[in-house]
Amino acid sequence: MKGFEVRQRFLQFFKERGHEVVPSSPLIPVDDPTLLFTNAGMVQFKKVFLGEETRPYKRATSCQKCMRAGGKHNDLENVGYTARHHTFFEMLGNFSFGDYFKEEAISYAWEFITQVLGLPKERIYVTVYKEDDEAAQLWKKIAGLSEERIVRLGEKDNFWMMGDTGPCGPCSEIIFDQGEGFGCQSPQCGPGCDCDRFLEIWNLVFMQYERNEKGELKPLPKGCIDTGMGLERITAVLQGVPSNYDTDLFKGIIDKISEITGKAFKENKETEVAFKVIADHIRAATFLLAEGIVPSNEGRGYVLRRIIRRAERFGRLLGLKDPFLYQIVPSVVAEYKEVYPEVLQGQEFAEKVIRVEEEKFLETLETGLNILEKEVAQLKEKGVNLIPGDLIFKLYDTYGFPYDLVRDYAIGMGFTLDTEGFEKLREKAREESRKSWKGALEKLPEFIKEKAKEGVQTFFVGYDTLEASAKIL
Ligand code: ATP
Ligand code: MG
Ligand code: MG
Ligand code: MG
Repeated sequence: MKGFEVRQRFLQFFKERGHEVVPSSPLIPVDDPTLLFTNAGMVQFKKVFLGEETRPYKRATSCQKCMRAGGKHNDLENVGYTARHHTFFEMLGNFSFGDYFKEEAISYAWEFITQVLGLPKERIYVTVYKEDDEAAQLWKKIAGLSEERIVRLGEKDNFWMMGDTGPCGPCSEIIFDQGEGFGCQSPQCGPGCDCDRFLEIWNLVFMQYERNEKGELKPLPKGCIDTGMGLERITAVLQGVPSNYDTDLFKGIIDKISEITGKAFKENKETEVAFKVIADHIRAATFLLAEGIVPSNEGRGYVLRRIIRRAERFGRLLGLKDPFLYQIVPSVVAEYKEVYPEVLQGQEFAEKVIRVEEEKFLETLETGLNILEKEVAQLKEKGVNLIPGDLIFKLYDTYGFPYDLVRDYAIGMGFTLDTEGFEKLREKAREESRKSWKGALEKLPEFIKEKAKEGVQTFFVGYDTLEASAKIL
């Protein structure tokens, strides 16, 4: 089953069960200053959960563009090293606003994965929040799962929060056992382990509270349901491939990287990591640019800059010396233009901006890398395997090296980093620069300035997106 069809079948399934098909909202949360990016399907319904807004429907379903790079949910540094994490990804979800609750949510999920998708029951586990006996009982009743298949976990895994504040509640997750070959070597490896064997595919959140700034939980007016299933993950399971990056959703992108580098995705461990990073990051960058976010030194723009630079650095590891990322944009557009027409509308702009950003970065990358290599060699001679904070800061400040680049390099060399020392220096520099800030738009090329002035909310994301979402079905 192709990714496109998985998306379609999910929305269709819930539509047939009385859910309104709601289009994805932008990656830039509309009207929510607490969030850097939309990080889950529920974000656009936050006020409905809180009882602050009513809609003409009590059940909804969506396929939501999500970004997890920065803020409470941040997977940037996982990308490349796991089979299942992206910065940008799509989240399928069904929602109940005070309508149905745990029992129906579990029934729908079970029916969808076993009847519609045909996943074999013997490879499925579920997790529940440690105190949630009700959910455990329901799993036994509805799915006939035995006690060993129902794993109780604590807050970290089974209490979901959108951010530090906002709607939250205990959750129950559906896990697919990928088989021993995917596991880590730990004797404790089991559902809830951070490795890729027990793959978390779907999270059913039983929204019951609102968390305030003090961390207090206040019950919501009514119990609600919020679920989220990663499209790329479930597609990987259905296609029987070892990672999200091996699905048809990534094929065009991976092939293009192969063509540019003359290397194969799985030639060795290094190429595999690099391909994953580049494939993920160019997809994220294309989607961010389509919403008018441009590279900068602060906030969302800085996340975009880090993403582009991290991809660039991995391109270097594959032997590329010239700007190359912008050439992959058309492959991203080809895969997504039907569902998200904003990427097609933003294509030319994205290619231009990425190319400019690559050129700027490449100028300093070489110098920065040389310094890092030299310093690391000296430290090694002294028997030190810690990269000091002031070196990380110097690279960051003078050569535009984001922290994660140094981190990726350090991992490769068996070094650790003085992150705290670096953070302190960066905070100090930030305060100083705030005093002398003259407007970030000043240094941008003309065409970017023009686009950025149009404002991010209306930029490329208009009625076409709504129409396209309706057309998926
Ligand atoms: P994990 O434990 O694997 O990091 P999570 O518990 O952080 O996942 P949730 O916040 O529960 O994820 O999000 C709901 C679903 O969205 C997950 O079950 C998964 O299918 C998908 N998902 C979450 N994070 C990512 C990501 N970074 N890339 C791709 N899919 C993701
Ligand atoms: Mg996570
Ligand atoms: Mg998890
Ligand atoms: Mg989860």
